[in-house]
Amino acid sequence: MRFHLEASFRLSADAAAAQEAITQFFAEAGPILQKGAPEGHGAEISQWKLIGNRIDLTIESDRYVRAHDAVLRLRKPLAELLGKKYHIGVRGLDISKFEIEVESDRAIEHKIPYVRSINFENGLLKLDLDVGPSGTLGQSEIENRIPDRIVSLLEEKLQTYGGKGEHWELLWESAEREPKFNRDPTEEMLKSGWIKHGSSRGQWIYGPEATHIFRTFEQIVLDEIIGPLGYSEMIFPKLDTWDVWKKSGHAQGVYPEIYFVCPPKTRDPAFWEEVMDYYKVTHEVPLELVKEKIDVPIGGMCYAQCPTFWGFLQGMTLANEELPIKVFDRSGTSHRYESGGIHGIERVDEFHRIEIVWLGTNEQALAEAEKLKACYKHIFEDILELRWRMAWVTPWFMAQEGKTGLAEMSGAGTVDYEAVLPYNGNWIEFQNLSVNGEKYPKGFTVKAQSGEPLWSGCSGVGLERWTSAFLSQKGLDMDNWPNAFRRRFGEMPKGIRFL
Ligand code: ATP
Ligand code: ZN
Ligand code: MG
Repeated sequence: MRFHLEASFRLSADAAAAQEAITQFFAEAGPILQKGAPEGHGAEISQWKLIGNRIDLTIESDRYVRAHDAVLRLRKPLAELLGKKYHIGVRGLDISKFEIEVESDRAIEHKIPYVRSINFENGLLKLDLDVGPSGTLGQSEIENRIPDRIVSLLEEKLQTYGGKGEHWELLWESAEREPKFNRDPTEEMLKSGWIKHGSSRGQWIYGPEATHIFRTFEQIVLDEIIGPLGYSEMIFPKLDTWDVWKKSGHAQGVYPEIYFVCPPKTRDPAFWEEVMDYYKVTHEVPLELVKEKIDVPIGGMCYAQCPTFWGFLQGMTLANEELPIKVFDRSGTSHRYESGGIHGIERVDEFHRIEIVWLGTNEQALAEAEKLKACYKHIFEDILELRWRMAWVTPWFMAQEGKTGLAEMSGAGTVDYEAVLPYNGNWIEFQNLSVNGEKYPKGFTVKAQSGEPLWSGCSGVGLERWTSAFLSQKGLDMDNWPNAFRRRFGEMPKGIRFL
């Protein structure tokens, strides 16, 4: 990796009198430019020239002390030298050229902010950054580490190109259980009139029978987890703003899967009259016209459920005796644009989920995860009698930022719970459980009174997925359901029948 930077220090006056002192300063600048880099690495001033009230310089570097860091390092000692003896100030820094070279085995084409062009030559990607008076990359962008973010982004793109798969490692597997059923439960529920397609893609209307299955699952979670472990119910907002997603990390990669939310430009009926009149005459909604009258999206509909909770704690310090905090939310739907992936009630665009969230010290967060895992195991083994397994996977917070691999914090990570679907032999993830390390407390600046790092975890119980897992293995006939579940389910509610 090479950086080539051409820049000028703007001075408050002509510095001809300081020519000799400046010469000496640059001749001896080596230690400043190499500090912290391995032997033989760092930055170098390849050229410089004093022209009246301007010092032009060219800096070459490798990845260790990057040219843009080097130029910032020079500023202060240079200002001291010129200020003390010559009463000349360093007013600012102008950048006239900035090129970065990164090793690569292929060309890439991407539109990246501040990058004017990317050329591929002899195993190198050569980036020409947008600088200069009309350009955009200046001193403040350098101070804000924009060039480093460009390099990280490139490295990320070069790395993920090979389609490195997500991590998956079996942790535990239930005994084989002979399935009681081998058909697609969505098809069967449709035939039995338990569900109907909603008007939107990947959306279902659940009739009384299917709804009672969902509610029984919820009750099991309340009785076996929420009650015994002492969780409190909260209501998390279901519209996530960009601000929330910036802090949760979702702003990095969630775009292809979200439903965007746009407010009207104004609620003045006169502004919308043309739309209303068009509809009244044609009975069609004039979508192109609507598009002009709505504002840019303020965020999207609930995607991961827990991010909006953190606004409650944001910027706060928690008393020791408050920890661990244990809450859950089941107040609304989650929405994902699953595109061609939608299938039955297994993969839908609108789904129902209970989200369990906990927060405490590192030990508390890890201990809580183990307690939850024990409760889940009891439910899946003794109440639902599923054929299921647990796998250690790429943490959801990384997957949702478009990353693969495992978390860097030890103990942090995601466990996926999977169940087999006898009708096609596939395993589906029906819920997960994650220890998210310090990610959320840091992202939303939440602190502990003790000063200890705070860790959090969350677990999403997908009701459509529990239903798919359960019904695909046990079928719709209540006589085939395990006793413990039947008892809790009680009577099958009367559905709606048609002529
Ligand atoms: P998948 O790999 O199946 O797409 P995911 O990794 O996207 O799942 P998470 O982001 O971990 O899922 O979401 C947590 C839980 O939310 C899942 O375990 C599942 O129960 C539920 N869930 C996620 N996406 C859907 C969906 N499209 N339809 C129904 N339930 C879903
Ligand atoms: Zn969560
Ligand atoms: Mg998914």
